[in-house]
Amino acid sequence: KHISVGESKKERLISFDDIGGQEVAKNELCEALEFIKSNDIIKSMGIRPLKGILLNGPPGTGKTLLAKAAAQHTNSVFLSASGSEFVEMYVGVGAKRVRQLFDQARQAARKHNKHSAVIFIDEIEVLGGKRGQNHSHQEHDQTLNELLVQMDGISSDDDIKILIIGATNRSDLLDSALLRPGRFDRIVKVDLPDKKGRVHILKLHTRNKPLSPDVDIESLAKDTFGFSGAQLESVANEAAILAMRENSQLITSVHFKNAIEKVMMGEKLDRLPSA
Ligand code: ATP
Repeated sequence: KHISVGESKKERLISFDDIGGQEVAKNELCEALEFIKSNDIIKSMGIRPLKGILLNGPPGTGKTLLAKAAAQHTNSVFLSASGSEFVEMYVGVGAKRVRQLFDQARQAARKHNKHSAVIFIDEIEVLGGKRGQNHSHQEHDQTLNELLVQMDGISSDDDIKILIIGATNRSDLLDSALLRPGRFDRIVKVDLPDKKGRVHILKLHTRNKPLSPDVDIESLAKDTFGFSGAQLESVANEAAILAMRENSQLITSVHFKNAIEKVMMGEKLDRLPSA
């Protein structure tokens, strides 16, 4: 199990412009990030630092992308972990891992001459679920307590600012201690994209693909009601694969139609026995 630090040179930087739709989430997030960027003013006004932002919404809607863009926007190092990486059998191990994550964030920032770090924790409900309700609850509770201790320890006087971005689609499962002021102060809703959002996402994921003139992104967006960003990315990718299989130079509306059907069928299709 390891915690990945997004400092590798190969990893492409994500900006808010790479994220389709999600205007409300982007605006709310950017507004919150001003707190990180203008630390001196915040300090002189005696405002307590913003320590945590929770992104709440269904899978594949761009929460990871938003967290990466937040790091890029604030010129921070980016570290990511999943709540399940902290689930351990032995008491104290998860808590130790939480401490290591914060230490690692500070070290990575120093190493890269940055003043801040964004720690992204996906599936935070696994680590931050309500205390006293878990099978191995002693270990779980210690891990969550350590996260609270680490968050409480963040101060605007620190040389390296740390922002925790948590992602979940079950904020109802979170321990209320996490949602108290000074912890996850902001909850940003990241919903499935509306039609305008789907147009934007489809445009982003087809921008480097050879589209036939008969492809109409507007009508593709109409036909993909309820799709997540991740599913729209799959549609664009599947359509390109279908075109390649037919040795077609261009991706046509028929390829897209079939790709949409395939993604809609989703796993069902994968589970069917091959003929
Ligand atoms: P999960 O909760 O499953 O971790 P997530 O909300 O973090 O999902 P991401 O990992 O950010 O979703 O998205 C997965 C992929 O889907 C992205 O790498 C991207 O290709 C595509 N995608 C999702 N949302 C968007 C979006 N709003 N704009 C562009 N691409 C998107």
